[in-house]
Amino acid sequence: MSRLRPDLVAMEGYHSAQVSVEVRLNTNESPLALPSAYLEDLSRALKTLNLNRYPDRSALELRSAIAAMEGVAAEQVYAANGSNEVIENLLLAYGGRGRRALVFEPSYALHAHLARTTATELISVERRQDLSLDSALVSQAVRDHQPDVIFLCSPNNPTGEALPGEVIEAALSSGDGLVVVDEAYVQFANSSASLMLGTPGSDRLVLLRTFSKTWALAGVRLGFCIASPGIVADLEIVTLPYHLSALTQVAGLLALGYLDDMEQRIALIVAERERITSSLASRGYTVWPSQANFILFRPSDGKGHELWERLVAHSVLVRDCSSWPRLEGCLRVTVGTPEENDKFLNALEEA
Ligand SMILES: *Cc1c(COP(=O)(O)O)cnc(C)c1O
Repeated sequence: MSRLRPDLVAMEGYHSAQVSVEVRLNTNESPLALPSAYLEDLSRALKTLNLNRYPDRSALELRSAIAAMEGVAAEQVYAANGSNEVIENLLLAYGGRGRRALVFEPSYALHAHLARTTATELISVERRQDLSLDSALVSQAVRDHQPDVIFLCSPNNPTGEALPGEVIEAALSSGDGLVVVDEAYVQFANSSASLMLGTPGSDRLVLLRTFSKTWALAGVRLGFCIASPGIVADLEIVTLPYHLSALTQVAGLLALGYLDDMEQRIALIVAERERITSSLASRGYTVWPSQANFILFRPSDGKGHELWERLVAHSVLVRDCSSWPRLEGCLRVTVGTPEENDKFLNALEEA
């Protein structure tokens, strides 16, 4: 007899296949690290830390620096161990028994996963046939289900579509729930829900950001959200004491001094994304136009899994989405360095 909560019995932990290969294009990280000057800054700063003491519980210096960069107040920034922890804490505060979360599938699996682990009722609504989302569909779903928490993902993982402001506006105006816009990839896109901050109803808007992608710090585990001061105060209630280590706080703070490097990485990735997109389209594949650092595609014979295996045989790992509901036969490739992308495109040619 399992002692596990019955509502968790059929679940699995979240993971991605880890195969040992030369070219890893499966988890949407930055292919380039921060410059070595950053590591020098960091090692210098580490020597001044008092690790015998608990860290600053409110991470004020880090939050103030993030707030300055985003043009908001420090009281509007909440930081945690990756944006995944922010999502979990949002659900602890606003979800749970008797509460409802709405997701539009297919989207980032963690939103639905954490709704389940926090015992929040999960409502999954289908996107359009072409996997896009529009205001009519969002308004209808919000009106029908009156969710406590609505997850939107822009650009959406795994389709790459960025949402126009009117879709976020529709989510806000059709109900009274929290509207969480996961903007993990926003710097690759040409629209952001941050334009909605300060507009009527936007006190229920939460923008999720991460250091794991454009900031090239997936190994640090740092994410944050921008929201109204009331939401940040609510999140403090469910936050574990001293959840953000002194190491994480200083690693994030120092990274903010390398904004120019980030912008250069983004320009490179966006150019490479367009190159890969054209190349995939010219093979006759179905390609979803992406505003992120990854591309969803389906080979013309629809045999994504077989192609994934042949790519692994050529030492290239992409994400195999071919067995995910609604994504039959699809693969998702992360944009890498130009050399990695050449290897991917050559492997595709040979495979
Ligand atoms: C990668 C990703 C994240 C990042 O999560 P972290 O916990 O910050 O590493 C968040 N949201 C989406 C949609 C992602 O794809």
